[in-house]
Amino acid sequence: MKYIFLPLFVFSINATAQELNPFYQSIVEQVKYDSVHQKLQKFQDFGIKTVGSSAHNNAFDWLKSYYIAYGYSNIEQQSVNVFGNVGNNLIITKIGKKYPDKFIIIDGHYDTLNGPGANDNGSGTVTLLEIARLIKDIDTDYSIKFIHFTGEERGLIGSQTYVNQIAVPQNLNIKAVLNIDEVGGVANKVNSTIVCEQDESNPTSNNAASSDLTNQMSNIFPLYTTLKTEISNAYSSDYMPFQAVGYPITGLFEKNETPYTHTAQDIIANLDLNYLTEVAKGALATLLHFSQAQEKLTTTDHTISTLQVYPNPVKRNLHFSQILKQPTISIYNETGIQVYEKKFRTAVSQINLEHLTSGVYFVKINSNQHSFKILKK
Ligand SMILES: [Zn+2]
Repeated sequence: MKYIFLPLFVFSINATAQELNPFYQSIVEQVKYDSVHQKLQKFQDFGIKTVGSSAHNNAFDWLKSYYIAYGYSNIEQQSVNVFGNVGNNLIITKIGKKYPDKFIIIDGHYDTLNGPGANDNGSGTVTLLEIARLIKDIDTDYSIKFIHFTGEERGLIGSQTYVNQIAVPQNLNIKAVLNIDEVGGVANKVNSTIVCEQDESNPTSNNAASSDLTNQMSNIFPLYTTLKTEISNAYSSDYMPFQAVGYPITGLFEKNETPYTHTAQDIIANLDLNYLTEVAKGALATLLHFSQAQEKLTTTDHTISTLQVYPNPVKRNLHFSQILKQPTISIYNETGIQVYEKKFRTAVSQINLEHLTSGVYFVKINSNQHSFKILKK
């Protein structure tokens, strides 16, 4: 048996809160300007979505049908009374593999005031939709709830009703609330910064957790988007009823603030769709991180679909059950950092891993043709 010695080129990287995860990046890259634009146009075309209006109800039906079309099955609506008019919150749950009873909430309101609300809050609404499109078949450790709130513009009534009637009575174990409200930017301005919002209100018991989430998100955005981040305080949107009862919250808000909020001029032409697309990418990366999305480690090539590696755990040599012809072999550590890559010009039946420090690694052969999770002892 041919013995192959492989030197290991371990990247030396300063410790930071987050590192780029290649799997997350491969999903984030699928956020598309045209996809965001098309949805926002539809949202705008419904018109002024005040609670009780047919425009509002048509928008609700469209949102619901969108999730059904993408194969979501756990879809609920909650009736909300807004000063005598009735609207509905829309709640979609995607169950986590490891912690089905622990939730990451991503939310945004869809009711509007005086105008079609392309920015406030069509921008947050379509961000949720774009994320839902891409995360549907991704396994996550934590459960995710997408919530489209009504009644925000009349005093956070939809979110307050959800907290009062569902979250608190059911004692929901919510690990994070990520609120997205007004993230469209301003046309003809340089929109290069997103504001990440942390809880600085009473009660203060949940402020440290909020700060931690917000710092994580602030570190994630520059890894996956072209945007810089700024941290500021959370206020006056649907995360506030959650923070008031002690849940950890965080939020996104545009840095250049639209002058058209609650007017007929809150239209697509007055915001920056490139900016919104970047925000959607960062929000998706954040949600993948918060919910601990995991790559499914399955083989995809039927020609050598029975390939296995052994032993696992491995101390020294990792063997392949079949001889690989001129493979490219890459190894990533648990945080997604590539610690090794080599394109072989020979056939390979084993590789030497003795220089790896102990821990969990992902071995990839020919990009994603085969992927194995191994434990190095
Ligand atoms: Zn708003």
